[in-house]
Amino acid sequence: MTVLILGGTAEGRALASALVGVGTPIVTSVAGRTRDPALPPGPVRSGGFGGAAGLTSWLRDHAVTAVIDATHPFAATMTAHAAEACTAAGVPLLRLERPSWRAHPDAPSWTWVADHEAAAATASELGDRIWLTVGRQSLARYARLARRPVLVRVAEAPASAVPPAWTLLVDRGPFELLTERALMDRHGVRVLVTKDAGGVHTAAKLDAAREAGVAVVVVERPALPPGINTVDAAPAAVTWVRGLSTRSTPV
Ligand code: NAP
Repeated sequence: MTVLILGGTAEGRALASALVGVGTPIVTSVAGRTRDPALPPGPVRSGGFGGAAGLTSWLRDHAVTAVIDATHPFAATMTAHAAEACTAAGVPLLRLERPSWRAHPDAPSWTWVADHEAAAATASELGDRIWLTVGRQSLARYARLARRPVLVRVAEAPASAVPPAWTLLVDRGPFELLTERALMDRHGVRVLVTKDAGGVHTAAKLDAAREAGVAVVVVERPALPPGINTVDAAPAAVTWVRGLSTRSTPV
């Protein structure tokens, strides 16, 4: 059996590590757009497949027997292509997606919005001094805030310059409560805007926001394609792979 992991996330790396550890043949795929990416153990391929049709061919050409889509919750295009290609190629698909921040104790007090444009409009109403932690690819969707004193933090510098009124920080963490709180105080942040990335790696800002009385605006996750079997941590994905190999072993 060969398992293709669609990665680019900490969950994808944890899964690759676990499957290599139990001797399952894998290939991890990354988009190849990050400079100096953290790579998992085992073979890695890089770059797009050429849409759902390209991925379908790739699955056939490489005799892939299962796909685990461990991409980021906001990598909706890749997730849709994985669903389409696995159906076309007759390959079982599992979605590995870290838990949403919906379960965070403060989540009911946050303003949840459907997209980045709504987040920009809501944030501008909630206060001055906005902090954007929405990823470099989404910054163009906050153009209406161009004249506001916005703090932007991204893991990697954006391709084009941010407006002169904005302050750009490039930092990929990990982030801690004390330093997040200090950053908010230093920049006088009153509104935090984030995607529902989920997980623990970037969650300290949410606790810091509560402590500092900062309003939080959260962009909801895109919906998953219907009918996809989903787990929220690598061990459950390993169990799923084991189940497949048991079923395919002749008796
Ligand atoms: P996306 O918008 O869903 O995908 C755009 C295109 O990039 C896909 O159609 C595919 O090209 C290619 N692609 C995406 N993920 C790929 C992968 N793992 N392997 C090979 N090709 C891939 O994706 P995105 O939001 O730009 O994310 C790109 C990568 O960064 C993903 O691996 C994701 O896990 C990671 N990431 C994303 C975010 C985020 O906030 N979006 C945050 C952290 C990490 P083709 O159509 O040519 O196959």
